[in-house]
Amino acid sequence: MDFIDMSVPEHKTEVMNVLEEALKKDRVKTTVVDMTKLGLIEMTRKNIREGFESLVTQPCPYCEGRGKILSSESVARNVEKKIRKYFAQTIASAIEVEVHPSVAEVLLGKNDGNLFRIENAFNKRIVIKASEDVKHEDIFIKEIDPDNLLT
Ligand SMILES: [Zn+2]
Repeated sequence: MDFIDMSVPEHKTEVMNVLEEALKKDRVKTTVVDMTKLGLIEMTRKNIREGFESLVTQPCPYCEGRGKILSSESVARNVEKKIRKYFAQTIASAIEVEVHPSVAEVLLGKNDGNLFRIENAFNKRIVIKASEDVKHEDIFIKEIDPDNLLT
């Protein structure tokens, strides 16, 4: 690290102290050697990249660090699994499934054909709600009153 142009010796000491305090909070082991006459601080640091990244970044909530997210088709398949679990645990006759619009598109299918297939498979009413606020892989299922359905 370069702290060049510090003529007052106390300032150098101050910088060293602040730096050493800051490094105590760092999970990565760092050894400060000393400051040279030119204001250069030499330090050794284990795996700088990993340490630095963990300080300034956090895992992506969308892909959970995989760097990829499930395709809309995969999420749609997960929706069907989740619906199956849901109906196994409740006596609901109608549900609303809230998903990302791209997943909703797959779930509905051409002319809603896929949704009809799913509804027939479970013999229940299913309303697909497309929501921009829902993350790509998230699926929210809730029971709704079948009497309030418009169609
Ligand atoms: Zn991501």
